[in-house]
Amino acid sequence: MEGDTLTLRNVLLDEKIVNVDICDAKIKQVAVSEEQSGTSVEQDGVSLFSFPSLLSVFPGLCNMHSHAPMTLFRGLGDDQPLDVWLNSYIWPAEQKLTDELVYKGTLQACHEMLASGTTAFNDMYFRLPAMAQAVRDSGIRAMLGFNIFGDGDKLECVNTLMCDCEGVRFSIAPHSIYTVSEKGLRRCADVCASLHLPMHIHMSETQKEVDNCLHEHGCRPWEYLDRLGILDLLGDNIIAAHCLHLSENEIKLIGDHRITCVHCPNSNLKLGSGYRFPMLELLDAGARVTLGTDGSASSNNLDMIEVMKTAALLQKGWRGDPTVVPAQKILSLATLGHSIAAGQPACLFLAEVKSLSDLIYASHGDSVAVTLVDGKITHSRTSSKATTP
Ligand SMILES: [Zn+2]
Repeated sequence: MEGDTLTLRNVLLDEKIVNVDICDAKIKQVAVSEEQSGTSVEQDGVSLFSFPSLLSVFPGLCNMHSHAPMTLFRGLGDDQPLDVWLNSYIWPAEQKLTDELVYKGTLQACHEMLASGTTAFNDMYFRLPAMAQAVRDSGIRAMLGFNIFGDGDKLECVNTLMCDCEGVRFSIAPHSIYTVSEKGLRRCADVCASLHLPMHIHMSETQKEVDNCLHEHGCRPWEYLDRLGILDLLGDNIIAAHCLHLSENEIKLIGDHRITCVHCPNSNLKLGSGYRFPMLELLDAGARVTLGTDGSASSNNLDMIEVMKTAALLQKGWRGDPTVVPAQKILSLATLGHSIAAGQPACLFLAEVKSLSDLIYASHGDSVAVTLVDGKITHSRTSSKATTP
């Protein structure tokens, strides 16, 4: 089977030239190379691709918040506030979607992600069987979130839907506290608890969301989820996109429950939602911090290399401190701590850069030449760019 035994010959890893042997979807061995020639990818000793220069190897990037089919809406309603953008542009357009369109939009997203070094994504949308088909066809890893609005009546079909999404991981995705009722949120949490599924939700994205929650419920968004018992019920099985506007008490709640927060800096900046993501405070409190693009209608690409740069620069900028969130830290957030080492899953990419610093601060997704998911080649670009001096 293709991809069962591969060797990445002469690749740069932490400024050393190494060979990486891959077998049965895992990295089998990483050994220092004695050769000086360019990088090649070999299968059973036969060269599949070769490059005149040395490429660097990095663990695959995990896009922890996306709406993959929204590649179809790229450029729609640019430069509008979040509520206008959703109500006047995105939600009306989504009414016209079909399974075929969702399949095509998702496949486009999967190819764009693979081509820019992303090997897994965590999504939230609807028409999940069509999305699951695109995920399987592309070879990427994914967790698809079943988007829930209102009272959550759609949850009745969750078991059937999961059967139709074989081969992908599944989560329950109440859209947000302002589009799902209290009853709907409780029902989502109960289904997550009984089926051992993660909950994926947008939280604390705008100041308006916080103000409305204070007005309607007399408390802030995370205090509201806590009051409903959802934090104690699900704890670290909650993945929350954005988490921009948080009080000290909310950061403590998130940390105590070891919740996963997904920072989507490009989307937040473009929608004017804010930029002071409390990354260090959340990490100190015990939360898990990850990165995402959000949908291509708000980001407007799925380039996680660009996201790493924006996230790092924002922290340095608003804190007035260039030493915070160095390149290695931002890579670990974007890869969920994975590394290039024996025993790790062979989800990785080769990029035409000389170092991690070059990857994060000096390049974009188009520097990616080869991407592997579970030891299989899912993207390759054989024409090599000119080597940087
Ligand atoms: Zn989103």
